[in-house]
Amino acid sequence: MSFADASSYLSRDISEVDPDIARLLRAEGARQAETLEMIASENFTSRAVMQAVGSVLTNKYAEGLPHRRYYGGCEVVDEVEELAISRAKELFGCEHVNVQPHSGATANEAAYQAVLAPGDRVLAMALAHGGHLSHGLKVNFSGRLYDFHHYGVRRGDCYLDMDQVEQMARELRPKLIVAGASAYPRIIDFAAFRQIADAVGALFMVDMAHISGLVAGGVHPSPVGIADIVTSTLHKSLGGPRAGMVMCREDLGSAIDRAVFPGLQGGPLMHVIAGKAVAFSCALTEEFRARQRQVIANTAALANGLVAGGVALVTGGTDNHLVLVDLSATDLTGVDAEARLDRAGITVNKNGIPFDERPPTVTSGLRIGTPALTTRGLKEAEMTEIAAIISAALRPEISDDEMSGLRTRAQAISHAFPLYPTLTSGTAIG
Ligand SMILES: *Cc1c(COP(=O)(O)O)cnc(C)c1O
Repeated sequence: MSFADASSYLSRDISEVDPDIARLLRAEGARQAETLEMIASENFTSRAVMQAVGSVLTNKYAEGLPHRRYYGGCEVVDEVEELAISRAKELFGCEHVNVQPHSGATANEAAYQAVLAPGDRVLAMALAHGGHLSHGLKVNFSGRLYDFHHYGVRRGDCYLDMDQVEQMARELRPKLIVAGASAYPRIIDFAAFRQIADAVGALFMVDMAHISGLVAGGVHPSPVGIADIVTSTLHKSLGGPRAGMVMCREDLGSAIDRAVFPGLQGGPLMHVIAGKAVAFSCALTEEFRARQRQVIANTAALANGLVAGGVALVTGGTDNHLVLVDLSATDLTGVDAEARLDRAGITVNKNGIPFDERPPTVTSGLRIGTPALTTRGLKEAEMTEIAAIISAALRPEISDDEMSGLRTRAQAISHAFPLYPTLTSGTAIG
């Protein structure tokens, strides 16, 4: 093979090399632009983050930590990881951080591995009440390796039941108590968890995967400095690349680092770590903080509009970036409701609600979040209009004609707020 062949292999455009995938990237870009993305765990990351993630750093092996690598040629990526670390420390005020976890689930796996032995007892929030599968679901690694027990929310108002947490903690004497949720619309009282953990001699971990953007933006209390370990994703409210991270007290730092590598992972994804550094630097700006305040204002406007439209919400409202629609008093299931909103051009996910009587594949709820649309620039007025569209779409008697009218209204909003106007190929580079 001549050099010309090699250079053409290295530089040909994806549209030439793989027209199938190129077409699908364009199609997904168009889908994201033309619908209203309201999956609470999703966001739109910036072109700058995508440029880092789509960069030459994908070529580099860098097992180990900065200046303690198992490979040569790491002088540049060492600087990248050091920047990610120092920015994360500045953003969250943590003593120690490992920025290598590939995802939120892996970050949790590292946290458990650092402080638990197989069979150790853990107390965490029930998945059915808004927790996460990596908090001890039986078929997940967490539930298979450790002895998880679960607290939940109160039957009446569906707020976290701190009395139950305390009672279970005293009875079970867990080694670790975990707080954090995937579908909980209210502020979590980390200090109350800390007190309970101290009372029973447990370690306390917070998984802030969903709310780390709100925490970084100062619109949700921070668990850093309260919990012994704080894990997070980067791609939810924080708006960074698809990835995870673990923060902890200084004295747990080396156990966390060893759990991530060589405990769980091989080489870190240096291109993604560069994306994390970009995301942290963006999150340190006033523009980002203002956007997080807007997320809270937008979710409040959405909640008010839904309640005004006759839609019931779990806990009656929200303090954060999401609402949980309660369909239990209606004939509509979560599956039906998700499909209806899909037809109206609004993407959400069906979600179990606390004490749901329908199975997890059907559910009686919808989880609806605002981070992605807030990043896109939508404000309270658009949220009020979206709430009206959703309320109408969930009415039992809606006709096909009315449904297509709702889709037109949703499309009018998406057209008014163009997404990635410079990225028609669906990729950040080229
Ligand atoms: C999303 C989420 C995770 C998992 O993140 P992945 O990157 O999908 O592995 C873990 N914990 C909570 C609370 C989450 O919401």
